[in-house]
Amino acid sequence: MKYGLIYNHEFAQFSFGENHPFKLARGERFYQLLERNQLLSDPEIDLIRSGPAPEELLLVAHSPAYLKALKEADSGEFKLEMLQFGLGSEDCPVFPGVYQFSRLACGASFEAAYRVMEGRHNFVFNPIGGFHHAQRSFAEGFCYVNDINLIARLILLQGYKIAYLDFDAHHGNGVQDEFYSDPNFLFVSFHENGKYLYPGTGFETEIGQGLGEGLKVNVPMEPGADDEVFSYLYKETVPPLLDAFKPDFGIVLFGADPMLADPLTHLRLSNNSFADVAYDLNQRFKSWIGLGAGGYNLEETARTWALIWATITGQENESDLAALGGVFRGSSELGASGFRDMRGYSSGPEKDRAMEEARRVAGYLKRNIFPKVGAK
Ligand SMILES: [Zn+2]
Repeated sequence: MKYGLIYNHEFAQFSFGENHPFKLARGERFYQLLERNQLLSDPEIDLIRSGPAPEELLLVAHSPAYLKALKEADSGEFKLEMLQFGLGSEDCPVFPGVYQFSRLACGASFEAAYRVMEGRHNFVFNPIGGFHHAQRSFAEGFCYVNDINLIARLILLQGYKIAYLDFDAHHGNGVQDEFYSDPNFLFVSFHENGKYLYPGTGFETEIGQGLGEGLKVNVPMEPGADDEVFSYLYKETVPPLLDAFKPDFGIVLFGADPMLADPLTHLRLSNNSFADVAYDLNQRFKSWIGLGAGGYNLEETARTWALIWATITGQENESDLAALGGVFRGSSELGASGFRDMRGYSSGPEKDRAMEEARRVAGYLKRNIFPKVGAK
């Protein structure tokens, strides 16, 4: 197995603004954690630098008019007409270098996908990627250029079937919209219910259309959902769907904002949930990439990604790798286990409601989606 990590220190020079929750320092913090714990030194691991995506490549996922406006915004100077493209909103401010930053982020995801497609790596992680809210002609939800749509279009052109799994706390609306009727793109998004959180979409009834019907799977969770709720929903849906769909390529968003410590959402996961997912998916996918996406508590986000990285690259003590839903067996002597949160299960009326709703959603998906895709 060969693993790659994409990281460019140039990312740290950009800023969405002092008070904006999206902090690019998260990437640096993550990188330092890996270095300090010697998690980049295995001969099977390559540290990869990437450049900006060529301008023409962005046209794969965006309209020329939108890209022209985004390029103009690169100076950092706001003009009223940019608002029709979502540029200059509170979520998507116009800041110096916004276009350069977007090209770099897309370049990183493109490099990750390309390396895996070429067979040089089994898994590549790009922490500064996964801008799943950006639309063809509209910036929203801290996302300007949709790197996922861009690489997915290119991978599909090679004739591969893609499984896209999105564990960020926000619904992957920009990706769902792009591939809603595509039969070769399995979309699965776990997120906080849109009744309580941006972007307000991603209900279980959104199942795709035309040839893509049954291949768009939304798994909304109630506020207060914890590791137990998440693990239940994962086991009930992801393995059967992947077994039925048989993807050639996996794109996985490990947005760290479902964690209890995140200031923007109301979910209560610990990062053990993501370690379990990383462990499971690493056995299922031969060719896949991971993208960082959201995460607004800097330390939690960096630790969560470090734990995922250590797990996938086999540098996490195996005695800590509880099977999904299994019992966590305590800390180990290896440094990597220091990345783990306490595995906490909550109780009380909020938890009961979250579990009850999870059972209802799982039942709905099994009745309405599984028969359409041959999942059991
Ligand atoms: Zn998010």
